[in-house]
Amino acid sequence: MNKELIQKFGDLVSRADRILIISHIRPDGDAVGSTLGLGLILEELGKEVSLVLEDGVPKVFNHLTGSDRIIKEAIGVFDLVIVVDCSDIDRIGSVLDEYGEPDVNIDHHPTNTQFGKLNLVRDNAVATVEIVFDLAKELDYQINLPIAEALLTGLLTDSLGFRTSNTNPQTLQIASELMEVGANLPILYRKAMLEKSFQAVKYWGEGLSRIQMEDRLVWTSLSLEDRIAADYPGRDDADLINVLARIKETDISIVFVEQKNGSVKVSWRSRPGFDVASIATQFGGGGHKPAAGADIKGDLKNVQQDVLEATRKSLQKSD
Ligand code: AMP
Ligand code: MN
Ligand code: MN
Repeated sequence: MNKELIQKFGDLVSRADRILIISHIRPDGDAVGSTLGLGLILEELGKEVSLVLEDGVPKVFNHLTGSDRIIKEAIGVFDLVIVVDCSDIDRIGSVLDEYGEPDVNIDHHPTNTQFGKLNLVRDNAVATVEIVFDLAKELDYQINLPIAEALLTGLLTDSLGFRTSNTNPQTLQIASELMEVGANLPILYRKAMLEKSFQAVKYWGEGLSRIQMEDRLVWTSLSLEDRIAADYPGRDDADLINVLARIKETDISIVFVEQKNGSVKVSWRSRPGFDVASIATQFGGGGHKPAAGADIKGDLKNVQQDVLEATRKSLQKSD
């Protein structure tokens, strides 16, 4: 990453006392890991740090030291506002409504809209935690065990356990350095990626019972009713999309998750050679070529119809 940008970030940090770090709604391991990892790094530098995720920390990340420091709203005045792992400002939810344009945008999505005053965006990074790691190295910030665990969690979850097509020697190099600090990869992997609650698997069952396949497209939906039937506490898909993405006969998989506010969260996954980020951006969303998402206004049936139509068109183009 450009040394000048890194230095600018270092200068902003050294001038600030109170720092706010935020990430996206329905946080994943990279959102939690980069928020917490960067927060703990800056705290070690003597900063007063507020960590905010509008939806709080999902239970699967509760084991991370410091995760209890993450709160759901920003309170007070800050000298520096940093957004991590968000491709656009709407991804944050309403946390920043009273704070205006963020000072720093740290992200790895190719669809990033450069919404910060300073934009540290590198789309070849496997996860945002990779950029946080680079910043720490370049600026000589110390990485202790809780920081290493947070960063390794983000690296693991965004690379699906080092198996996404963008995984490269640098990814493993960073993981190795974080393990040197003491982060336990097998335990972090199990906690963040393998273990599922009984409710989550029951929720999968609701979705899997209605799974459909047509040509090389597979999809299903999760309704508010399914969420109640399974007693699932989150408003995400419990990672069902990554179950669908394993189906051998398909190129693109989609999960539709009905939301309480009259919208639908859509997740796409695709095999190499298929670009679902371009479909997601048609619906105001974003992401990466093989993994993208969008929050679309409308009811489950209509959103499903529109998204399937756009996705079929995109599949035909790639034929
Ligand atoms: P998900 O399907 O939620 O696991 O997200 C897959 C990828 O798409 C991630 O890189 C997300 O950051 C991105 N993404 C998901 N939802 C949205 C959205 N509403 N707007 C922009 N990007 C999104
Ligand atoms: Mn994320
Ligand atoms: Mn990410």
